[in-house]
Amino acid sequence: MTDGKITSLNARDVEREELEVDVLLVGAGPASLSCAIHLQRLLAERGIEDKTILVLEKAEEIGHHTLSGAVMKTKGIAELFPDWRDRGFPVAADVGYDAMVYLRKNGKHNRLDGMLVPPQLRNHGNVIISLNHVVSWLKDRAEEAGIEVYAGFAGAEVAYDGNRVIGVQTRDSGIAKDGSQKATFEPGMDVRAAVTVFAEGTRGSLAKGLIAKLGLAAESNDQTWSTGCKEIWEIPAERGKELLGTVFHTAGEPLGTDGYGGGWIYGVAEDKVSVGYVTPLDHHDAQLDPHALFVKWKQHPFVNKIIEGGKVVRYGAKTIPEGGYFAMPKLQGDGFCLVGDTAGFLNASSLKGVHLAIKSGMLAAEAIAEALEAGDTSAAKLAKYTQLFEASWAKDELYKVRNFRQAFDGGMFGGMVDVAVQMVTGGRGLVARRRGHADHETMRPVSESRMTKPSYNDGDSMDKLTDVYWSGAIHEEDQPSHLLIPDPSICVERCTEEYGNPCQHFCPAAVYEWPDTPQPTGVVINASNCVHCKTCDIADPYENIEWVVPEGGGGPKYIDM
Ligand code: SF4
Repeated sequence: MTDGKITSLNARDVEREELEVDVLLVGAGPASLSCAIHLQRLLAERGIEDKTILVLEKAEEIGHHTLSGAVMKTKGIAELFPDWRDRGFPVAADVGYDAMVYLRKNGKHNRLDGMLVPPQLRNHGNVIISLNHVVSWLKDRAEEAGIEVYAGFAGAEVAYDGNRVIGVQTRDSGIAKDGSQKATFEPGMDVRAAVTVFAEGTRGSLAKGLIAKLGLAAESNDQTWSTGCKEIWEIPAERGKELLGTVFHTAGEPLGTDGYGGGWIYGVAEDKVSVGYVTPLDHHDAQLDPHALFVKWKQHPFVNKIIEGGKVVRYGAKTIPEGGYFAMPKLQGDGFCLVGDTAGFLNASSLKGVHLAIKSGMLAAEAIAEALEAGDTSAAKLAKYTQLFEASWAKDELYKVRNFRQAFDGGMFGGMVDVAVQMVTGGRGLVARRRGHADHETMRPVSESRMTKPSYNDGDSMDKLTDVYWSGAIHEEDQPSHLLIPDPSICVERCTEEYGNPCQHFCPAAVYEWPDTPQPTGVVINASNCVHCKTCDIADPYENIEWVVPEGGGGPKYIDM
């Protein structure tokens, strides 16, 4: 019934409870909850009241695994709830001041504001949010509408009937490190549904297998990701009040012209700022370290002056699917849809995806409602989702920047020229369709690495382990590692020599440790630190790391993020 690959740590041959629903949504982010809410409404409008909708989320509480910058365009939420403000939608601040800042090597900077900000990065009319407040608010709206939302249940395996998705199996709990069943063993459930909506967020582990098995991305560009590291800083109130509603996006240092990335500073409360740095995973350096770049960025005088005298109160990291329109997989098949980050609904040029996630959920809901009414949840019927997307503002927005991220493949300067041409050619640019490449293919030998680590000064920079503490990451210790290395010999026999074991650098949570011994002995995996960002699953040059779901409830505990 399952796809036959080892993609989960579930026990075999145990009896499982079966739960049958009409629509199952895996993941409780903005796309999933918007889909569930809109679907419930559409069914009610059709007089269909006997359908059950279930949302499963792997975090212990809804929102604990949800992280974003975030500045949000209001278009999506205004369609879902035209009276969103009156209903108490959680807005941290309306964007007041907005600027693009170029950080120079000599510690100076250049600031562009007003009409000098590139059009795609102008934020007037947008709102600053905490995405975990937003999903918690959406969850309350979903529950008010009678939708079941279960936290602490991780989808571990996709269940198939041929190529038709018929639901998922949730993760067992109570399996010891050695694979034996503890006294607390509880088998995961087999949840069966007419339609399963994969809304696992970025690099969903179930969606990854599904996309590969059914060739859903056969005609798509390879997806391109970045890793964003974020902290919330408590800063002196006088400065905080001044910055509330301010949006700074930075380019330049520390990456310089060496890759497509940059930072953000958002004034989110009278005494808090959200700060973060985005590092491209198609960077060629084998010692690429998103967390180290984040630290260096915070040490630039422009950023440092803002956080000086403050303290970190939260940390998190996630990958960001930046490939755009041409990197999106097929959005549906027999018995399933893909929504939100899982399907690549993100506009990399404006650094925004929440409004697109909401819209994707709503469009999927419209197709699912029609399919349920017709009693036909085949790929052909659910293809209405793609048709609706193609006719929507979401497609228009994404199509206008369809070649944006790939334009930077050849370097920053070439990318800037191409983007300028894209702006006057409706998104085409110099080439009709830029192809890009998979991030894991871009790494060069460690002998060519030029990355250096920052100095970890007191006050302005946390090392990875200190930051892990601020992420709240916690997992049951006595369980098998959820980070699978299919061929450990590659790590020791090839990777050490060729790439210098990049996992110890690119993981932003110090999960992978290489003991400093004369002969490489193999990697130590501190799985408990994992913040579920998925960088390792994407960036490993041999594709030799598989991220699978740990026991439900394990992971970071993001609050206010
Ligand atoms: Fe991210 Fe992988 Fe590190 Fe977990 S182990 S924090 S998913 S890079």
